Amino acid sequence: MQLHVLQDLRRKLGSVSEYELEEERVVAGDLVLRDLHGTVSLLRTDRGLLAAMDATAKLEESCSRCLASVLVSVDVRFQEEYVPVVDADTAGRIYLADDDEAFRIDSEFWLDLREGLRQYILMSEPLKPLCRDDCAGLCPLCGADLNARPCNCQPETDERWDALAGLKQEMDEGE
Ligand SMILES: [Zn+2]
Ligand SMILES: [Zn+2]
Repeated sequence: MQLHVLQDLRRKLGSVSEYELEEERVVAGDLVLRDLHGTVSLLRTDRGLLAAMDATAKLEESCSRCLASVLVSVDVRFQEEYVPVVDADTAGRIYLADDDEAFRIDSEFWLDLREGLRQYILMSEPLKPLCRDDCAGLCPLCGADLNARPCNCQPETDERWDALAGLKQEMDEGE
């Protein structure tokens, strides 16, 4: 997920180069992705490189009911501009404004896709992943994993329903 882009930065404006991405495991901040496959193209812009990533991967998540780890398939499609901090031709320092939010290409000309990837995934990750559609989840009282076996907790009391049933019976009898 790190590309050495010195040659890409020396190309003329508008030229494009493409790289294959094949990663078994990518750690991007607090996210872990597995089996990432795809491509990234680098378009030379006047400031730097516009990276366009198109890949698929599996994101490590926790089931929203039972907390078991699950792998969720994700499509990764984002574009971000990366600007160098050193000029690739003159080796002169390039000063960027502090509030310039473009991603940086470091002084050794490494372009790191991971932070862009992390931000993209955070915006697009599934909200409530499940280990399986009918996951029984955890008991809210004792925390037991109900997929493994039922626990001994009493189900929520039904007093209100009993009262309503009694009322209905009285009404039926009163007719
Ligand atoms: Zn689950
Ligand atoms: Zn329980």
